[in-house]
Amino acid sequence: MVTTPAPRVGVLALQGDVREHVRVLTDLGADVTTVRRPAELAAVDGLVLPGGESSVIDKLARAFGMRGPVREAISAGMPVYGTCAGLILLAERITDGIQGQLTFGGLDVTVRRNAFGSQVDSFEVDLDVAALGEPPVHAVFIRAPLVEEAGDGVERLATLDDGRVVAVRQGALLGTSFHPEVTGEQRFHALFLDMVRERAR
Ligand code: GLN
Repeated sequence: MVTTPAPRVGVLALQGDVREHVRVLTDLGADVTTVRRPAELAAVDGLVLPGGESSVIDKLARAFGMRGPVREAISAGMPVYGTCAGLILLAERITDGIQGQLTFGGLDVTVRRNAFGSQVDSFEVDLDVAALGEPPVHAVFIRAPLVEEAGDGVERLATLDDGRVVAVRQGALLGTSFHPEVTGEQRFHALFLDMVRERAR
């Protein structure tokens, strides 16, 4: 019998809901490590950018010497999945960032940070996601960003009822405004692992 090795993936562990992502990816059979240093990034074939606070993750990434290596990995085609703050970090352009806030970039989108207001404006909604099929995704939004503009190469995977875009894919990059990792929803992570396996082949 031929067994395919488990995909080796990392979760950027500078700040945010790292544990939740590690749990989902481990449940899906991936070989998961936390990533804080360039050498740890070099040892994985895919990376998750967790939810948390994008401006803090940006600052810590610069302090830990991770900004350059993550940008290089993205340009080299490493599959990366960002949730919420992670989506902000993947965006080429942000609105309402803090002074001097940088992103890693890669996704040809403009993302508005805290697009739904403050913490009290967090909400949950069921989303139809054609790429994932049935049932709908139960999505939790926590001080979530919105994709305000997306280039032609960007696939819109999910929208709210009013058409606003909350999940996108472009090449090896996947981003969601919401947090599948907190509700037991595993299909976005499974899609990400498929992207990692596809690339490793
Ligand atoms: N508002 C946060 C930010 O700007 C994102 C919130 C989240 O990841 N749940 O990074």
